[in-house]
Amino acid sequence: MAADYYEILGVKKSATPEEIKNAYRKLAMQFHPDKNKDPGAEEKFKEINEAYAVLSDPEKRKQYDTYGAEQFNKRFSESDIFRGFDFNEIFREMGFNFGGMGGGFESADDIFDSMFGGGSRGRRAQRGNDILASLSISFDEAAKGVTKTISVRHIKACPRCNGSGAEPGSKRVTCPTCRGSGQVATSRRTPFGLMQTITTCPKCGGSGTVPEIPCKNCSGTGTIKANEKVDVSIPRGISSGTRLRLRGMGDYGPGGQGNLYIEINVQQDRRFQRDGDSLHSELHIPFYTAILGGTVSVETVSGREELKIAPGTQSGDRLVLHGKGMPHFERPGYGDHYVHIIVDIPKSMTSEQQELIKKFAELDSKKKKFGIF
Ligand SMILES: [Zn+2]
Ligand SMILES: [Zn+2]
Repeated sequence: MAADYYEILGVKKSATPEEIKNAYRKLAMQFHPDKNKDPGAEEKFKEINEAYAVLSDPEKRKQYDTYGAEQFNKRFSESDIFRGFDFNEIFREMGFNFGGMGGGFESADDIFDSMFGGGSRGRRAQRGNDILASLSISFDEAAKGVTKTISVRHIKACPRCNGSGAEPGSKRVTCPTCRGSGQVATSRRTPFGLMQTITTCPKCGGSGTVPEIPCKNCSGTGTIKANEKVDVSIPRGISSGTRLRLRGMGDYGPGGQGNLYIEINVQQDRRFQRDGDSLHSELHIPFYTAILGGTVSVETVSGREELKIAPGTQSGDRLVLHGKGMPHFERPGYGDHYVHIIVDIPKSMTSEQQELIKKFAELDSKKKKFGIF
């Protein structure tokens, strides 16, 4: 279950930006890992920051209010949530001095790297890569929702060694190249003196350990590439360009599994033009129906619907079928269906029909002459 950001910060849904900021400051002070050593404080601190990162940004807050906690969480990754959010500035403002912190953190970024596993410096275990795939669906599938099975080639933990890279029964030992630091220094003579460059250890890839006996299945890498079938449940009302997130379906990494993002492409439909959740279609009606009025049948995305044509309807008139458009994406309700009328004028008529039209024309000119409208 996705967390309620308002609840986490203890504010009302209608809270002003100032109220949100004050609530956040109070909680951040209370649960800051440098001050609070209780178990669970770090997790709580992370939650508070995630909530604030969203609710302090008007655009993200709007999205969150629209989609609700669960859908928001599905649509946005951690990096999306924290994009454009400057922790350093906020903590500086709050009076935290990172240089003097006991926890070995140098900056706010450092704290968050360690919490979210986003960093790659030193021996920190790296999270697997995110994968982006695309999937094309028909217009009807977008309207009704659909589950598709796709095949994804991703990096998985080796089943033989469970990702350790060490043959079962053996263990990982300190890397002989970097002696466990995960980094190696290379020196280079330059006109300015001896320059030292620190790079990730090529032998252990920065982990600081190597398998004692490399696993026979993965040659000690701990990972294998595999194709996997993934069921993607696509909610109705989806539009082209929407990215669905499947948590943990990306590449494996020692620091956690990456996510799989699926970008949806909705094919065009010759019957309907889509504009958000509104649908538009054209409808040809005979001129006599336009004049006299009547009832016609219209094709909508959810089946045929009866539409009343008022007497005197003009070509180009737009009639609306409320709630017969595209379903809203991840919220209840439907858009509207707009029917654009085209009045058909017959290209040929029988002589009897022509007589009737002539008669009509005579009556019409008389009506005009006597000023009757
Ligand atoms: Zn293995
Ligand atoms: Zn090494």
